[in-house]
Amino acid sequence: MVRETARRARPRASAHAARESGGYRDKWTWDGVAWGTHCVDCYPGSCMYHTYMKDGKVAFEEVAGSEPVMFEGIPDKNPMGCQKGAAWSRTLYGQERVLHPLRRLGERGEGKWEQVSWDDALADIAEHMLDAIEQAGPETIVHEMTPAEGGTMAVWPTQRLLVNLLGGVATDVNAVINDFQPGHYITWGKFNPTGGAGSEKLTKLRLIWHCNPVYTQIPNYHAVAESRYQGCEVIHLAPDAGPSSIHADYFFSVRPGTDAALALAMCRTIIEEGLFSERFVVEQTDLPLLVRLDTKRFLRESDVVDGGSDEQFYAWDTAGRRIARAPRSTLRWGAVKPALDGRRRQVRLKDGSRAEVTPAFALLRERLNQDYTPEQASEVCGVNPYVIRSLARKVARKRTSIYMGMNLCKYYHGDLIQRAMLLLLGLTSNWGRLGSGIGSWSPGSGLEGQGIFSQKQRTGLEETRRVLALRAQLQEMLAAQDKSDSPEIAAIDGIVNAARLGMTGMVPPAFFWYHHCGYRERWNNPEWGDPTMRRSFDEYLKEAMDSGWWEGVVKPDPDKPPRVLFEVGGNMLRRQRGGRSHLQEHLWPKLKLIVSVDWRMSTTGRFSDYVLPASQHYEKPNFHMASAAMLQLKFSDNAATPQGESLSEWDIFRRLAKKVEEAAKARGLVEYADSLGRTHRLDNLYQAMTLGIESADELVDEWVRDTAEAGMLKKGENLKTMRKKGYAEFTRAGESVYTLNQATDAKPGKPYTSLQRNTEKGMPYPTLTRRAQFYIDHPWFLEAGEEFPVHKENPKMGGDYPFVMTSGHNRWSVHSMNITNRMLLQTHRGRPHLVMNTREAAGRGIDDGEEVRVYNDVGDFLVPVKLSPSVMPGQVICYNGWEPYQFREWRGPMDVEPGMVKWLHMAGGYGHLRYWPIQWQPTPVDRAVRVDVAKIDSASASIRPKEKGRRS
Ligand code: SF4
Repeated sequence: MVRETARRARPRASAHAARESGGYRDKWTWDGVAWGTHCVDCYPGSCMYHTYMKDGKVAFEEVAGSEPVMFEGIPDKNPMGCQKGAAWSRTLYGQERVLHPLRRLGERGEGKWEQVSWDDALADIAEHMLDAIEQAGPETIVHEMTPAEGGTMAVWPTQRLLVNLLGGVATDVNAVINDFQPGHYITWGKFNPTGGAGSEKLTKLRLIWHCNPVYTQIPNYHAVAESRYQGCEVIHLAPDAGPSSIHADYFFSVRPGTDAALALAMCRTIIEEGLFSERFVVEQTDLPLLVRLDTKRFLRESDVVDGGSDEQFYAWDTAGRRIARAPRSTLRWGAVKPALDGRRRQVRLKDGSRAEVTPAFALLRERLNQDYTPEQASEVCGVNPYVIRSLARKVARKRTSIYMGMNLCKYYHGDLIQRAMLLLLGLTSNWGRLGSGIGSWSPGSGLEGQGIFSQKQRTGLEETRRVLALRAQLQEMLAAQDKSDSPEIAAIDGIVNAARLGMTGMVPPAFFWYHHCGYRERWNNPEWGDPTMRRSFDEYLKEAMDSGWWEGVVKPDPDKPPRVLFEVGGNMLRRQRGGRSHLQEHLWPKLKLIVSVDWRMSTTGRFSDYVLPASQHYEKPNFHMASAAMLQLKFSDNAATPQGESLSEWDIFRRLAKKVEEAAKARGLVEYADSLGRTHRLDNLYQAMTLGIESADELVDEWVRDTAEAGMLKKGENLKTMRKKGYAEFTRAGESVYTLNQATDAKPGKPYTSLQRNTEKGMPYPTLTRRAQFYIDHPWFLEAGEEFPVHKENPKMGGDYPFVMTSGHNRWSVHSMNITNRMLLQTHRGRPHLVMNTREAAGRGIDDGEEVRVYNDVGDFLVPVKLSPSVMPGQVICYNGWEPYQFREWRGPMDVEPGMVKWLHMAGGYGHLRYWPIQWQPTPVDRAVRVDVAKIDSASASIRPKEKGRRS
């Protein structure tokens, strides 16, 4: 049941308020209650909180316990919350809070600041932006896009001004944070099916694999524990026995980065023992498609017919005893009975010659039989062959889901591991039906009003209807272009084209890092890359560029270094693989201005020219990211008076728009064209930005009303109704491309999971073959030997050293946001630490708590050790999120990470291997970097001379 709360406009006094005054007990009294949540990237987050107010400040917050029942017969999500959420008001009023606009004095990073007025700060920033636009072009203004620390309110105004209106460049958020799952993308043509909601009750086998939800999914984890009462078996697979192992039925330790070998041996067992679902494999996957044995390429219509298509594929029809075209508009084969057997058959090619073909499935079986017996895999991954067979049989017989977090995408060959996991699920019909599947994350469903606002020319519902009508027309046009396209495929084609025309607001940052941030040398180091990379990275990059695979999205241009950098809630110098020292060496000198918009002083803020104070949760109206994993829009109210002079991002960027307009007027600059020839006007910038809206309340009210007008929320929803209930339920999943990617008819009251439209309605996948694709015959994939998922050893990134350093979200912070919160720090060791196997440390004479030097060929850092027998020998763990300034010398694990990207992910020009925002692109990895650990009193433990003095 939902409890109604009062707002500060109608404060509800605590029954005790009058009686208590002063002292400890007075702390727990209040004069009003508001809805709150924490609009950060704690996906899916959205926990409903009550913020208890006193004198305009948050006295404390509490889990509201108001999650509604979403599905009849399925328990609600209560209680949803975590210890960071429960301590957020301490962060709000913490010492790291920035209260006034600050301008750097002295050198960057020197720590000397002057307090300036908003007017002065924004006027100076506007001048720098106009200098960049006039002297080098708007693309030299770069917004490092992150989920930001303020949710929907933070990201949208930033993008609107810097990118949409001024023509700046935003780096793709999914590469910046590296939460892109390349293996999902290669297989499904999209990385982001979320797994849906309410379906987990039917799961009978849950593999927690490369994930530690007890640390990282605190609000949701209880559902895993509860599922065991419903007969679900929980198995944890990870190198180290962690908190998630304790609550599992079984834990199996897997050598870091070898999970593909484990999964493929399970696949082999399933095929060998006839446990696979032939119906699912034939219908849903590309495995029945014929492959030519001479070229290793799929048999295409262009092989057999003059003028034939390169995208028409064939199976062998055992009924008609001839090749049969694979339908492109449906997965259903009709009367055709595709063969999976291993017979080699001859087909006549268009030139009269003959080629031998066989189904991809037969080639896969041969590969698995040859390389992935459980005994062979056991040698690689360390899991007993008996266990491998037993696990395989369980997966085949039970409705299985894989609980996989954001760890694998940070392994060099994580794509291969993901592809092997999906093969395991695909062989056993374990996706697209309730209780099965594998989740990722996704934005884009729900708050349609934000996108609508961006297309409006004036406020109000009449204009909203005009925008919606235009959208409908566009969708009809796209659908008419190719009748075989599903709405999802048509939408993807549309967004791919828009990205190439610079209309989507994001570019893949790999090129920015390569050209402007000093990564070229590292990515060309053959010792740190994949040995199958026969040519240099440069050569592959050149081929990719010459082929036009990344046309239109390589920004800023190689010969136009970035000039102005905006960080809005992001923390590049903490997060970027390669670390603070690398970026300061290569990128920082090029930047004429660095602006951090943040509510706290991050490491990046410390090295910026301006730090602008943003308001935080409870100080601005905001929504948690709406997603298909949560059919609800959760609201956080501006209940508290913003600290100091802090402003919402809306107020900051609309004021900046005004300053840019004024400064342009003074220069006589009315308009300019960007490198794509689009005109940007400056004389009406403020009106274009705001449509006349000033207050953040008015803005979010417009978003909610427009979302309701689009049919995504019930008619009549607005800011007032959100304030009353704290949330609104979506009426359907929506029409954005990322929602269409869920391929589900999600509706309130009905559990759903991703990919149901594929399995239940035969809707094609957005891949080259229009099927879940396990065989990629792109020339580069053939060159790499990765046409099928295979196991490859992790490259020796960082050099040939005895330890692999792994990581993951820590328990005490969402990214680095809470990592300096004293209260949370006091719940553990209170400072960064390296977790190391007890015996291994003893062998090196290292004591618990002793500070050690971790080093490799990239760099080093000093850190105290925490001993734990649960860590695998040969592994050390440094959890993610620590601010560099929490380490000595301000260097942490990111300073030993080379930030390699996998060369193969530069591939394009092949069906679905093409860029669109948050999808296919190279992303840097940081797991399983090679390091050594030395006692600090040994001769080798001194700080490396070249690093000395870089930061005092
Ligand atoms: Fe929930 Fe995120 Fe807040 Fe924690 S920080 S309580 S996960 S919304």
